[in-house]
Amino acid sequence: MSDIPPLFHSLEHDEPFKKCLTCERDFEELDEPFNITKVFKGPECVFEYAICLSCKKDTFESFSEESRKRLRAFSEDNPRLAERRERLAESQDHRDWTAECAQCGLPLSKLKDYSIACMGFGHHMIFDPYPLMVCSDCEQAAQKLLSKSTRDQWDKFIFDNFDGPPADALKPDGVPMLV
Ligand SMILES: [Zn+2]
Ligand SMILES: [Zn+2]
Repeated sequence: MSDIPPLFHSLEHDEPFKKCLTCERDFEELDEPFNITKVFKGPECVFEYAICLSCKKDTFESFSEESRKRLRAFSEDNPRLAERRERLAESQDHRDWTAECAQCGLPLSKLKDYSIACMGFGHHMIFDPYPLMVCSDCEQAAQKLLSKSTRDQWDKFIFDNFDGPPADALKPDGVPMLV
């Protein structure tokens, strides 16, 4: 295990994420992992959040069954995940794990817009399949798998949990969802 690197700290608060976006439980006291997601448009981080796995699961379960099935298949049928598991087994450097899109394999150096996500537990980062990076094209492909009701559900989640509409900054694609 390694500490959560500054790349995955909160840009807004200029320190590590401290609590879950949704239930507001403190990560230090939590006996379960959490996810941190940051969305980049060019060099700028335009959106960020950290959510515990229970809340993430609740959100996922609010999606339509069809969307859940498709999202699961999208991530589980991805042969790249097994390939990087083997190749990066020895690495605890987040830069290795986020060097290319986990879906299509395009290198970060060739990308402008992308998202990164990691999994934390306390101060530590848990490896495989996180940390990972997904390019905006692959995010949009995943978004297209979702039913209208699921997209509405996700928009509601964003609306309920963020001050102001960060989604507007990310139009026309909305806020990408990492699974
Ligand atoms: Zn939570
Ligand atoms: Zn991609």
